[in-house]
Amino acid sequence: MNDEMLSYKSRVSKGHIALSFIFLLFLSVQEISGSPNYGNKGLMFAVVIFACDLSVILFRLYRKRIIWIVVRIIELIMITMGYLEMISYISSSFIGVMLIVSILELMIVNDFTDVYSRSMILIVSCSPAAVYMIAMLCVNPGDQIEFFARICSFGVIVLFIVILSNMLSDIIITSENKVFELRRLSDNMKDANEALKVQQEKVKKANEELGIQKIKLETAYNKINNANTETNIQNMIIKYISTSLEITTLLNLITESLLEAIGLDLCAVVIQPGIAGNEKKLYRIRSRMGGESERLLSEKIELGCVDQYIRAEGTCVDNKVDSAKYTFLYDVTLNSLLIIPLVRDNLVIGAFIGGKTQYDFFHDNISFFESVVNQLLVAIHNASLYSKMEQMAKRDSLTGIYNRGQLNIMLDQYSKEAMEKSKPLSVVLLDIDFFKHINDTYGHLFGDVVIKKIAEYSGTIAHKYNGIAARYGGEEFVLVLPNKMMNEATDIVNELRELICNTELQCEKEIVRVKVSVGLSCYPETCTHITELLNRADGAMYYSKKNGRNRLTIDSDEIYKSIAKNK
Ligand code: GH3
Ligand code: MG
Ligand code: MG
Repeated sequence: MNDEMLSYKSRVSKGHIALSFIFLLFLSVQEISGSPNYGNKGLMFAVVIFACDLSVILFRLYRKRIIWIVVRIIELIMITMGYLEMISYISSSFIGVMLIVSILELMIVNDFTDVYSRSMILIVSCSPAAVYMIAMLCVNPGDQIEFFARICSFGVIVLFIVILSNMLSDIIITSENKVFELRRLSDNMKDANEALKVQQEKVKKANEELGIQKIKLETAYNKINNANTETNIQNMIIKYISTSLEITTLLNLITESLLEAIGLDLCAVVIQPGIAGNEKKLYRIRSRMGGESERLLSEKIELGCVDQYIRAEGTCVDNKVDSAKYTFLYDVTLNSLLIIPLVRDNLVIGAFIGGKTQYDFFHDNISFFESVVNQLLVAIHNASLYSKMEQMAKRDSLTGIYNRGQLNIMLDQYSKEAMEKSKPLSVVLLDIDFFKHINDTYGHLFGDVVIKKIAEYSGTIAHKYNGIAARYGGEEFVLVLPNKMMNEATDIVNELRELICNTELQCEKEIVRVKVSVGLSCYPETCTHITELLNRADGAMYYSKKNGRNRLTIDSDEIYKSIAKNK
């Protein structure tokens, strides 16, 4: 028996005893007060009913099914007897209620929703009444009306019980169905919830996997993007190298590209003097940290602060820069630094410097910068070759001073400048005296030595006075002296002649002295048509030849006319 049923029986038993106690009290009061009643018989019924209820409560008989049913049937018989014996409104009401409660209780304890079970209980419950009434008919067959009244009254109660039990049964069945339906729905909901939870878990896992895939894709995309950018820059640099041989232009383009596309904050290239036709140290700096940082770094490069880092010790990577360690970084805030030496034929010819304000910038990209440096080396090599070729095209192969072609170009430039700025310009033409004789006497090789010596002196003196010297022909040389008036130019020529005259050249055991004939023309003092300067100097030199050699002739209209006459 389940706890629910026990609790129910306990409560009903308390209801029973309350009813039977009130009924007993009522009959006792009636007996004491002397009111008309049913005498000891009624009181006896009440006592037995109360005793039954009391025994159920005291001994908890509702826990023992069989005993409890027996006690209840005894009680039911007593109630039925009492009901049929005591015809009074109050007593009948009491007993009627007890009868209804007892029969319904028996029905509920068995199977209330089963019609058969209910019917059986009803038949069993009515059987004492039927036995009693049959007995009454046999004992007292005359009192038909009272008997009929009792049957009708009992029948009404039975009918009421039938209707009530049917109604209650319907209500219980409907409720149970509803509860069952609700339970089923609840179970379905639970199942649906479980399924939903499983789905949610799956979706969550799928989302997590998608998140991981997304991160991987983003990483791969960034790598591809970086690789593309790097390839583009390399292509661009290769294009620059193939389209330009001018090293400063190349350095500008390369540093600019690296700064913009790779996102460096500082990009600099330093090339040592004389590497790519550059006389001085060549460098290009590009910075995102403002012109002031570029200026500061330029100063440091000029002062040679970077030279100690231009070493063949391989690539230097510092991703946590202590600026005190690098003298050239004074006042420039960089936290990642990359220095790659430019090495050609085991000789360090310069350095590439890359910088970034953020920490840990140089990792996977180092090989890219190294390949850029390799391309830069190719560009420097090309520029160096080009510079050499350019020098060869401009200069005389024997003496190293300018050749006649370059003289013409430069003389034009100086002439133009002199006219534009109204400045003087002097031209000197110098011819070695009796050079054929030197060649014939000492040989052509010695003749070359003489030519080289005179060329060297001409170059030195011209350079000293901000001019240029060129080999005009076999043993003829020209000096162009910008901003030099006739007096100044005369002094310069005399200085040169003195240098030549005082030079003793040794050919084997012999000492050879060389003399030169010189012509000088000056714009605008001796020659107002600047394009005639060289021609007039040549005329003056010719005049020197014709007038004893080893001398200087300064151009004048008279001399020019006399030469024209003699020619
Ligand atoms: P003058 O005093 O009138 O100038 O007499 P010169 O002998 O110097 O004049 P000329 O023009 O007759 O002789 C020039 C010589 O220079 C002819 C040529 O053989 C020689 N010469 C030209 N170029 C070279 C060169 O590169 N090396 C050598 N060794 N001789 C050269
Ligand atoms: Mg000559
Ligand atoms: Mg000569």
